[in-house]
Amino acid sequence: MGKDEECTMELETMYEQLGVSRAVYEFGEHILSGLEDRFREIDKISEHNQAKVLYAMQKNRVNATHFAATTGYGYNDEGRDNLERVYADVFHTEAALVRPQITCGTHALTIALSANLLPGDELLSPVGSPYDTLEEVIGIRESKCSLKEYGVTYAQADLKEDGSFDYDAIRAAINGRTKLITIQRSKGYATRPSFSVEQIGELIAFCKRVKPDVKCMVDNCYGEFVEMLEPSDFGADMVVGSLIKNPGGGLAPIGGYICGTKECVERCAYRLSAPGLGQEVGANLGLMPAFYQGLFLAPTVTAGALKGAVFAAHVYEKLGFACVPTADEPRQDIIQAVTLGSREAMVAFCKGIQAAAPVDSYVTPEPWDMPGYDAPVIMAAGAFVQGSSIELSADGPIRPPYAVYFQGGLTWYHAKLGILMSLQKLLDAGLVQL
Ligand SMILES: *Cc1c(COP(=O)(O)O)cnc(C)c1O
Repeated sequence: MGKDEECTMELETMYEQLGVSRAVYEFGEHILSGLEDRFREIDKISEHNQAKVLYAMQKNRVNATHFAATTGYGYNDEGRDNLERVYADVFHTEAALVRPQITCGTHALTIALSANLLPGDELLSPVGSPYDTLEEVIGIRESKCSLKEYGVTYAQADLKEDGSFDYDAIRAAINGRTKLITIQRSKGYATRPSFSVEQIGELIAFCKRVKPDVKCMVDNCYGEFVEMLEPSDFGADMVVGSLIKNPGGGLAPIGGYICGTKECVERCAYRLSAPGLGQEVGANLGLMPAFYQGLFLAPTVTAGALKGAVFAAHVYEKLGFACVPTADEPRQDIIQAVTLGSREAMVAFCKGIQAAAPVDSYVTPEPWDMPGYDAPVIMAAGAFVQGSSIELSADGPIRPPYAVYFQGGLTWYHAKLGILMSLQKLLDAGLVQL
């Protein structure tokens, strides 16, 4: 094909080259024509959050010296210290701990919990069971070095049938030993709804009315920049998350953050490094450009992922599949669950996401037995950063109701292609009709 031909190729043809048929492309365009208002709303939130991030960077006079690499102990690492001031200003908190030494979201949450709970204290989850990996951290599932092993007990108040907070049960669960309350913003891989920051604010206010000195921590994973405000704007003592999700903007290759009160964050720093050392140590290893630039891009990247989630829900609801959240519901995180109803459909969906990736597009995802799961799991991801779920990915356990969890997309156009490809694979397998 000549260069000129490629330049003037129609978009439909470009999509055909990528493997999306004209029929699927047109189906997608038809769905998209109804989403203008929705996308405008997402853009408005993104613009607000971009301004928030920019203001925090300007206020803290970010400059080229902040991008310098440090090694060894990392004493006087001004780039790292200033990034933490920027994060604190973005989340409107007194302090922040933002480090490449925090290996993942689970690690960040573990630090926040174990730094602020002492033997004899009790942890309460007022929103039902926590994220899978936290079960071993807390000791719900036995593990070495769990909080339980250190004498921290755990209590849980389940959500009501309709997914709302059970305030009576929460009041009854709070006792003299209740020290910390953990609230998970995103549903993760559960079937409950995700919570808006306003709902979380009401829950925090309620808990603090019952016990004024109780600390509230929010697992903020997947929720950052989805709304204009964060749980820290509603009284959370700590908000915690992973840099290979929303706030890393796709550029951070590792890391986690904890933003919160000076008292809580200082304890977290002591737990992460060592008592007495705290935030003073921890070299940045040359990652500052990625952390700053990733945060700068995060509002836009999150908006792209949200558009993908909304588009997916509209496409798959139109074809008769149940979606959580539903196509028209407001969004509190970037995760979209689609109940596909069969193993074959899950595999086809994931094949499409994989085929649309910039990396590893030629591999075929297969279900496999993963440690910690009671059913084979299928995963599709072709990411620049291993396991990054702000990049386009889909996964789910192969068991009824056969739901895939779809999230991410560093750009809206890539998310769009992924969804069109998933539909193409379902169509090719004879599992849907347009
Ligand atoms: C991803 C996630 C975690 C854990 O993060 P990892 O980086 O996978 O360890 C915790 N809670 C929620 C809600 C998450 O989405």
